[in-house]
Amino acid sequence: MVNSYYYNGNQYIPRTENDNTKGFILASMASSAIMGTLPAFGKPFSKQLVKEHMQNDLYKDAFEKSIKVSGLDKEGLKVIPAQFIRDMSDEACGQNAFYSPKNRIIKINTDKISIAGFHEVGHALNDIKGKFGKVLSKLRYPGYVVAGWMGFIALFSRHKPKEAPKDGMDFIKDNCGKIAFLGWLPTVLEEGMASYKGVKLARKTGLSEPLIKNMKKLYAKALMTYAGRATATGLAVGAASMIMDKFTRPRKVENEGFFLFS
Ligand SMILES: [Zn+2]
Repeated sequence: MVNSYYYNGNQYIPRTENDNTKGFILASMASSAIMGTLPAFGKPFSKQLVKEHMQNDLYKDAFEKSIKVSGLDKEGLKVIPAQFIRDMSDEACGQNAFYSPKNRIIKINTDKISIAGFHEVGHALNDIKGKFGKVLSKLRYPGYVVAGWMGFIALFSRHKPKEAPKDGMDFIKDNCGKIAFLGWLPTVLEEGMASYKGVKLARKTGLSEPLIKNMKKLYAKALMTYAGRATATGLAVGAASMIMDKFTRPRKVENEGFFLFS
């Protein structure tokens, strides 16, 4: 165990085990409190989506047409109406829909939320025909992994004084909140692009403007859940990191301190 560090003529005292533990507990609490706000971001979206069950008929035909209009039927894109899948997944219940790039399949309950389908075709357009969109969709998963690692690294103790020479790991520790936020950025951007393309496609199928307007509202709320997740993750990791810094970073012995004892 090191008793003191010296940098540039300053002396630093390492923190006690007790300080480290306190920091770890506080940092964990702060980040889970921030992550606890997440359901609030998703609420407006889920609320509207449930309402859409009642006016599904207005969107259903246009959605079915949209696969052909997008030209992706020729690329093997298929819709699996989730109402035929015998499980209680969110998709089957009409609480969500998703596109699988691996099989080029959209899983959606077309008896409930056809309105969400255009967005899923938007994902397929990004993945199959897109350039930037394709890059973004490939970055989604690695981005989650990076963000997850940042949450872990934020809770590491800071053994070096602030003024000590920094290496790559120190840079990551100092910026883990920002990096975690960046990890979510490809997802947020790709979701936004999928919605943009979905709306454009819906117009091409001849869907009327008031219906488009309603769809845009839903898609904006969906985007808010992703943007909220990105922001909350960045803030949670950043707060944990700040607390760990405060509790575990070696303390500088201030020169003025000597006067007190002289
Ligand atoms: Zn999406």
